[in-house]
Formats: sequence, C-alpha cells, structure tokens
Amino acid sequence: MPSTTVGQVIRCKAAIAWEAGKPLVIEEVEVAPPQAMEVRLKILFTSLCHTDVYFWEAKGQTPLFPRIFGHEAGGIVESVGKDVTELKPGDHVLPIFTGECKDCSHCKSKESNLCELLRINTDRGVMINDEQSRFSINGKPIYHFLGTSTFSEYTVVHVGCVAKINPNAPLDKVCVVSCGISTGLGATLNVAKPPKGSTVAIFGLGAVGLAAAEGARISGASRIIGVDLNSEKFNEAKKFGVTEFVNPKEHDKPVQEVIAKMTGGGVDRSVECSGNINSLISAFECVHDGWGVAVLVGIPHKDAVFKTNPLNVLSERTLKGTFFGNYKPRTDIPGVVEKYMKKELDLDKFITHEVPFSEINKAFDYMLKGEGLRCLIRMDG
Ligand code: NAD
Ligand code: ZN
Repeated sequence: MPSTTVGQVIRCKAAIAWEAGKPLVIEEVEVAPPQAMEVRLKILFTSLCHTDVYFWEAKGQTPLFPRIFGHEAGGIVESVGKDVTELKPGDHVLPIFTGECKDCSHCKSKESNLCELLRINTDRGVMINDEQSRFSINGKPIYHFLGTSTFSEYTVVHVGCVAKINPNAPLDKVCVVSCGISTGLGATLNVAKPPKGSTVAIFGLGAVGLAAAEGARISGASRIIGVDLNSEKFNEAKKFGVTEFVNPKEHDKPVQEVIAKMTGGGVDRSVECSGNINSLISAFECVHDGWGVAVLVGIPHKDAVFKTNPLNVLSERTLKGTFFGNYKPRTDIPGVVEKYMKKELDLDKFITHEVPFSEINKAFDYMLKGEGLRCLIRMDG
C-alpha cells in the first residue's frame, strides 16, 4: 500500500458475520483511519479459535451483529494515530484480544496481566476512544470483536493490544501465538512451573492443552499424562510430548484415583484445559499432597461450582487459575516469538489446515467437526 493511505479511509475485503451461525460473507468494507492511541494494521494471516465460533454462534450471550470476528493473527502496521510512539508503519505485529495499557495497577504489578483498561471484553463492538466502529459498509457501522477483528484485510486496534515482534519471524507461523498457544504454554511455563523431571497431567487435549503439554516438554517434564474423553486425541498428542494417556470413560474409578495409582500418589503439576467442572475437580485432586500445583485454564460453565474436601487443600495442594497464560501482551509476547525463532518452541505442528481468505467458512467447518488444531487463513487468497 502506498503511504497515501495514511489518514484516508481504506476500502478492502472483510468477512462479515451478518447473522448468528450464518456463513460469513466477504464484502468490501471501509476502514477509517486510526484515532488517538490506535493503529491500523494490514492483516496477512489469521487463524480461527473457539472463541470466534462461540460468539458467532451466539448461543449463550446477547448477539451483536453485523460483526467482523477474528483475533489470532499476524500483520504489519499501515499507519498510526495520534500519540502512538511505540509503533510505526512497517512494524511486524500480533494483535492481542486483551491489552496492556502499562499504566493501571494491574499493568504495574509484576503478578497480573489483567489490565483494567484493555482487559478482554466480549460485549464491546466499538473502539474505546469514541465508542464508534472503524468499519462500515455504505455508511452502516459493522461491529468489532475483541478489539481485533482480524477477518479483514485492514483493521484498527488499540495500541495497547498490539505486540511488536521480530520482523524476521514468519507471520504465517507465529500468528497462532496471539491467543490459544500462549494461553496453554504460559499456564505451564509461568504458572504451573514444573521443575525438571516432574510428572505433569494435562486435562483436555485441544490446542490449548497441547500447548500446555509443549510447555511441560520445554520444562523438561519426564512424564506427561494426557487426559481426554476422546481417545483419538492421543495420537496427535504424542507429537506434543504426551507420554501416557487416560480416558476417564475407560475406568470405573475417578480419574484422580487412576492417576494417583499411576504415579505413586499424584502428579507434581496438572493443567486443566477442557473447561469441564468435573475435570477441573479431578485436575486439582490428582496432584500430589505436600507440593502439587493445579492450574485452571479451561473456562467452566457460568453456573459451575468447584467442590472439594478442604482437607485436599490443607494437605498442601495448590489451585491456581490463569488468563492468557499470565503473559502481558506487549511486554511478554515478543519473547514467546523469540522462543520459536530459537527453535525452543515448535509452532508448526499446531497448524493442521490452511485455506485462502475466500474460503474462510471452511475453517469454521473444520472447527465445528473437531478436525485438526488450527486452520491458517491466508489473507492474500
Ligand atoms: P478444545 O475444545 O479444542 O479442547 C478441549 C478438549 O477437552 C477436547 O479434546 C475434549 O474432548 C476434552 N474434554 C472435554 N471434556 C472433558 C473432560 N471432562 N475430561 C477430559 N477432557 C475433556 O478447546 P481449546 O481451544 O483447546 O480450549 C480449551 C479451554 O481453554 C476452553 O475451555 C477455552 O474456553 C479455554 N480458554 C481459556 C483461556 C484463558 O485465558 N484462561 C484462553 C483461551 C481458551
Ligand atoms: Zn493496564
């Protein structure tokens, strides 16, 4: 794009969700220039995550349509708005669905990544600055999603939701770092922190769980036990270092008892990535007394209640929870990309499918059928 686009409305292709659950339609949209503290990005690659599908189906929440979904992506800064000093046109970036303002008490805390200003907000369909959308078709506004809306050739994002990464990193690979992979990886590396040689149990072997397994492998875990109701998940999981597999349906005892028996009293660490409440209870109760730590990642049903005998806690087990793997988007995500560049982290195996932008609905089909892990969508196709 020539620099003449700066300050101008850009007309480009975007995949519009006009109605809940209906196939997306590629349309020409107008993308307004970025305002104060905003940047406009040219998206090169995006991928589909469960959260997009969940809000597109709009079964459990107030529907907000027409909307441009998408939040896992990689792109290049096209132009920046007023007061943006950290980014410039040409920078390679990953947009992130939750932000880091660097100014609030959470951003200033070493322990939190729950920025007060830019924390994930699934209900908001407009920019914070002026409560307006930057997308329109014939003057009619189209709503944003998660502040990212990456199913568009150009999008406008708050500067606090943009991680500037190594320009040599291949965006068609590292784009998956912007959501699910970092969530699982960080849950293990930043929160569970398994010492070398530990035994780690991973509950739920979707992309998030397998990223948690990847974290366990990187940490030097000696045994990684995968737990899933679907036995077919084990074959794929072996590629991610999962060494043993338990299907709770194949046992007449609770899975925590099965794991206690396999490990001589319990695992050192567990990471729950299914969101099922019973699985969460098992993930907590299967850690060893005295030192075991369980980390909750999966998002349970809103009415779910965690029930366990308090003696399980008294006997020195710890339960922790984490959002986005405790990574601060701007400060920490460039470092995850560096792990890939140094070949410490393998991302290629997460990308199991690829489609051109014109066939984006196929990515939805794969996810709805539970096929594969991540489907890469190439914006130039
Ligand atoms: P996924 O659907 O691909 O994988 C979930 C896996 O869990 C499936 O393989 C399924 O068979 C398995 N499963 C379901 N019930 C189970 C049970 N009772 N016991 C064992 N396994 C069971 O999902 P995903 O994309 O990998 O996401 C996993 C979870 O992480 C979701 O709940 C998602 O909402 C959550 N998530 C959390 C964050 C966060 O920041 N905390 C971010 C992204 C996603
Ligand atoms: Zn903040």
